[in-house]
Amino acid sequence: MSRLSYKIFGALLLTVLLSVGLTSFAANQLTASQFRQYIIRGNTEFITSVESALGTYYAQYQGWDNVNGVLIQLLGSNGGRLVLSDASGLIVADTQNKWIGYQTDEYSLSNGTLISISGTDAGYLYWIGSQGSGSGSGYGKGMQSGQNNSGNAAAGIISESQQQLLDEMNRSIWLSGGLAGLAALGLGLLLASQIIRPLKALSRSARRIAGGELSQRVKVDSRDELGELAESFNHMAQSLETNEQSRQRLLADIAHELRTPLTVIEGTVDGILDGVFEADAQHLTTIKEESATLTRLIKDLRDISLAESGKLKLEMTQLDIADIIRRQAKQASILAKDKSIALLSDIPANLSTVTGDATRLNQITANLLSNALRHTPAGGQISLSLKNMLYRDKPGIMVSVTDNGEGIPPADLPHIFDRFYRVNTSRARSEGGSGLGLAIVKEMAEAHGGYVWAESLLGKGSTFNYWLPASHT
Ligand code: ADP
Repeated sequence: MSRLSYKIFGALLLTVLLSVGLTSFAANQLTASQFRQYIIRGNTEFITSVESALGTYYAQYQGWDNVNGVLIQLLGSNGGRLVLSDASGLIVADTQNKWIGYQTDEYSLSNGTLISISGTDAGYLYWIGSQGSGSGSGYGKGMQSGQNNSGNAAAGIISESQQQLLDEMNRSIWLSGGLAGLAALGLGLLLASQIIRPLKALSRSARRIAGGELSQRVKVDSRDELGELAESFNHMAQSLETNEQSRQRLLADIAHELRTPLTVIEGTVDGILDGVFEADAQHLTTIKEESATLTRLIKDLRDISLAESGKLKLEMTQLDIADIIRRQAKQASILAKDKSIALLSDIPANLSTVTGDATRLNQITANLLSNALRHTPAGGQISLSLKNMLYRDKPGIMVSVTDNGEGIPPADLPHIFDRFYRVNTSRARSEGGSGLGLAIVKEMAEAHGGYVWAESLLGKGSTFNYWLPASHT
């Protein structure tokens, strides 16, 4: 048994013992006192009726002659023993026929119930309880002082069978208390085991997860707080597993990305050293370009890791996004001209200002423009547009880069913002793409409190939009 179950068991046992013990004790006391009162009431009535019968007898026969038979009849099935003395204390009747003719002492006289007829003392009646019967230890035995004269002989007389009944009742109370206690203890232990079982399962799974078994889950079979705990645990395990998988994928992707340019550099250098290639401008340029790819890749990796961990430092200022777009359009126009692509821009007046990091916003725009230029054939068109737009009820500015290039297949569209995702892997790589450009754009836009999304029709072109919240004025 675990320590928690010891504690629950201890607490339950204590509670059950205390509550059952106290309740049974109180019930016992109450039953005993109620029972005694009931008996006393019955006894008082009995003695009063005996007194009145004896009074009638005395009045009728002017004495106690032959009263013994009547007394025996009067006792009937009542417990104990009736003794009658005359006014002087001489015993004239005894339901056990033992003391007739004996003289009572003063003490016993005072314990008897006086029978008086029309103001004349006729005698004393003694009712000796069952405990005293036959013992001869005194008439007063078992008698308690009554509230009135006639109550004297009646008070506290409990016959053997009545005492047995009382004992029986008390035993029943203790027994039912004990049984109720056992039932409560059993139920409590059942409940405790229902709490402890899922907790144990949780701790087992937690240990396995710590040991690297990230696919571990616990069964959720209740809707209470324990069920919620199990569900949260499973969520945590799920996100640990997802994170671990994406970490492994990232490492594999990085290794893969590094290998291609390094292989080219190594192969070219080996060729030059072996005398297969000339150390001429062409081969040195290959080495330089692949080194540049590596440098860009490392820079992109750094950017994305900073952005993903929320550690990207943004130098936020209030700025006019139109300026950035104009500058980027100007730079891209040289390349566009080289590729015979028309670059148009639509920048309206009175645009809201945004708060952002100018370098990063330049980077986002440059990335989108460079992608558009790469995926638009000669004679195509790229347009840059800006407009004030509400996004999810918040005012801001939307920047759109639209091209009429090759477009993106619908199956690829939901993934293009993922790290290292490329639609046409070999072509993208040969064009120097790391597959990180759009992932960086997404992270940067989100770091500004913005969003980025793409729309595309295969063979018709694509539009990449990013939205930034307007500065608070
Ligand atoms: P890369 O640096 O390899 O271009 P990106 O993350 O910038 O990687 O882009 C991911 C993929 O999205 C690219 O492989 C490319 O196929 C596709 N893509 C991006 N921009 C465009 C566009 N304007 N038109 C068509 N496809 C695009």
